[in-house]
Amino acid sequence: MLLTLTTTHHPATDLGFLLHKNPSRPQKFDLSFGKAHVLYPLASNDRCTAALLLEIDPIHLVRRRRGPAGEGFALEQYVNDRPFVASSFMSVAIAQVLGTALAGICKQRPELAQTPIPLEATLAVVPCRSGEAFLRSLFEPLGYEVETVAHALDENFPQWGQSHYFTLRLRNTVTVSTFLSHLYVLIPVLDDDKHYWVDQEEVEKLLRHGQQWLATHPLREQIASRYLRHQTRLTRQALSRLLEEDQADPDQVQQERAAEEEQAEKKIHLHEARMDAVIAQLLASGATSVADLGCGSGKLLRRLLDEKQFKKIAGMDVSQRSLELAADRLDLEKMPEARRERITLFQGSLTYRDKRLAGYDAAVAIEVIEHLDPPRLGAFERVIFEFARPRVVILTTPNVEYNVKFPTLPAGKFRHRDHRFEWTRKQFQTWAQPLAMRFGYEVSHHSIGPEDAELGAPTQMAVFTRV
Ligand code: SAH
Repeated sequence: MLLTLTTTHHPATDLGFLLHKNPSRPQKFDLSFGKAHVLYPLASNDRCTAALLLEIDPIHLVRRRRGPAGEGFALEQYVNDRPFVASSFMSVAIAQVLGTALAGICKQRPELAQTPIPLEATLAVVPCRSGEAFLRSLFEPLGYEVETVAHALDENFPQWGQSHYFTLRLRNTVTVSTFLSHLYVLIPVLDDDKHYWVDQEEVEKLLRHGQQWLATHPLREQIASRYLRHQTRLTRQALSRLLEEDQADPDQVQQERAAEEEQAEKKIHLHEARMDAVIAQLLASGATSVADLGCGSGKLLRRLLDEKQFKKIAGMDVSQRSLELAADRLDLEKMPEARRERITLFQGSLTYRDKRLAGYDAAVAIEVIEHLDPPRLGAFERVIFEFARPRVVILTTPNVEYNVKFPTLPAGKFRHRDHRFEWTRKQFQTWAQPLAMRFGYEVSHHSIGPEDAELGAPTQMAVFTRV
């Protein structure tokens, strides 16, 4: 069982520091199931390759066998693929032999451990019964360039067809720690087997190593389920914790903080100005159906209902509490049938692909993007522009340049404590232009609120139109 990791980062031999393994000295490690060797077939300034080679002890495999004797074919416990393919043994070896690198720790080069560098891994053999497409769908969403070589069942008998074994090559520019964490979780997912019993501790491992990327992975359910050996209770627990952690108690955060922002912006009636500007754009666009994403307590929804042009209206928010406030504000219960039929409210997160968002002419997200963690923005972009794909998308966000004009706002602070970022006009445009290009939209920029000659207006709005 062989894993090689290559970098062309300069000097490439820094890989030795990152892995905590000296390129000039092969090393051997005793593990409970066999031996691991780390060596460097190549170590030059331009290219450096580290190899992790596992020798599995066949006696250990026989001893650890669970289940009734005679399961499978007679010699299966002696003749099987386990010593040769990458499986959970490889993950254990990564954790035990390359644990410091997996954790992103590097005493000699701390900044390097945090720097994405070009990396390529080759796994000599991975088993994947679900086929090559599944293999790709695990790694490609994480930004990997994936190359596979499928192996015939027996080269001497081509008529027997393909086996479910592949040589896998993965390329990505990420930190060593990120790369290893992907391998650590996804190798056993490919194999769909584990050499040890799965329990609560595995949930913790999955959450720890998947923390940065699993919540937004399109196959997160399958990954969690396979990683936890299809144990429904553990899988459900892992997924709900994953999503919860992602959202940091939206209700509490939202309620406490919305008031602060309103206070700061009240004097200039910014909230009304924003809604006026957005509604004017929507009316002009000819849209008859509108989704208000991150609708908060539903102020815009009420204004939308008053416009006859909008026949179908949706309000979506991650915060259940906000949706309850919206239902109250709109007096949903007592609304006349004809009006009631035009609106739906539902809970959801804009960083997860959601079928319910499809089929609207227009989507608006007023003062929402700045609440998303920057690493989640990519997911948001795809959810809106790739999957929901409304004809018109309207986004507003604070113009941070204007903040100096708010007397109550301490210098350098954002308008709302839950804002993860606030952008200058240039930053917003630099984000929006390539985004529009990428997904086939045109974008125009507008300002909302009293305009300052130098600082611009307090709110900025981008209107994307599908071309
Ligand atoms: N659009 C409203 C509320 C803006 S406050 C208005 O203009 O008044 C930001 C809103 O985005 C909050 O209601 C918050 O709960 C919601 N939100 C934050 N992250 C979200 C996410 N990932 N998915 C959906 N809504 C989100």
